[in-house]
Amino acid sequence: MNEWQGVIHHYREYLPVSDATPVVTLLEGNTPLLRAYWLEQQLGKGFEVYLKYEGTNPTCSFKDRGMTVAVSKAIEEGQKAVICASTGNTSASAAAYAARGGIICAVLIPKDAIALGKLAQALVHGATVIALRGNFDDALRLVREITEKYPIRLVNSINPHRIEGQKTASFEICDRLGSAPDFHCIPVGNAGNITAYWKGYKEYLQYKKIEYTPRMLGFQAAGAAPIVRGFPIEKPETIATAIRIGNPASWKKAENARDESGGIIDIVTDEEIMDAYKIIVSKEGIFCEPASAASVAGLMKQAQRGYFKKALQEKGKIKIVCTLTGHGLKDPDVAIKYSPPAIESSTNIDEVVEKIGLSNKL
Ligand SMILES: *Cc1c(COP(=O)(O)O)cnc(C)c1O
Repeated sequence: MNEWQGVIHHYREYLPVSDATPVVTLLEGNTPLLRAYWLEQQLGKGFEVYLKYEGTNPTCSFKDRGMTVAVSKAIEEGQKAVICASTGNTSASAAAYAARGGIICAVLIPKDAIALGKLAQALVHGATVIALRGNFDDALRLVREITEKYPIRLVNSINPHRIEGQKTASFEICDRLGSAPDFHCIPVGNAGNITAYWKGYKEYLQYKKIEYTPRMLGFQAAGAAPIVRGFPIEKPETIATAIRIGNPASWKKAENARDESGGIIDIVTDEEIMDAYKIIVSKEGIFCEPASAASVAGLMKQAQRGYFKKALQEKGKIKIVCTLTGHGLKDPDVAIKYSPPAIESSTNIDEVVEKIGLSNKL
């Protein structure tokens, strides 16, 4: 039977698991790699753009790839509880995998600063949710301290098992394309994911599954761009709550990914993020959350600046993958706020037809 059985099963030989590892899976991974035809048209000749849509994972973000490994290993090592700090998606994922694995989960989230859908997920899966009067960086500092003192496993991306699981996204992309892309665009928050993707590409090169690695292009929100600015941001601000992080745990590793791959880490403004968001949802038909759109915003910005000119001249055609990290339904408030409103009508057919605009549209 060729049915998909999750990332641990599919990429077992590349992961730190053995027959003794109790695999806790919700069949994460195997996510779509979609051609972005509308974007390609906008960017012009030679651009072949793909969107790696991680919103179709079981809890609707890429965090599940890492969480299946982190929770499985925690249970293998006898842990009875996991804990994380979260801008939302890590807590949603930890809560679900802990529930499935039959262990306790506690999450620390910044009060009033996570998207509604993510809060619902953590609560519904039975995690103990602590709404902290502080930001993500405060939450991470606290869980680090707690896990040093108490027998509870940290499942943020500083847990290396998270990175191991998340690197499988690179494997899937290469398996699908038959090669690595030339460039990989990705949002950067706590910087675990750019670290994981780069590790995945390097390992596939080492195993001779691919012949070259892509340049990694990471994008931070302008109000939360410590790596670009070169110092921690005390009060990070952005509409893209999933990347509202002022002092990323994998800061140095993200810089390594950038430098080893010959890539960049740059800034996109909230306005550019929301412009890209609108294109992804209304032109490509894919519902991602605001933070995810930072990858596409970065691609468009760099294209406009002529960053890809040299590669286009040399190769004629370039393959670019943008990771769409999470599902748009996680943040319904932003989705509704940035869309035209619903139009109210009576049940009179003439009024309905008029309000649809049938006579002047078709
Ligand atoms: C976690 C997350 C990010 C940021 O990933 P890092 O590994 O923290 O850099 C971006 N987008 C979404 C939707 C996320 O959940």
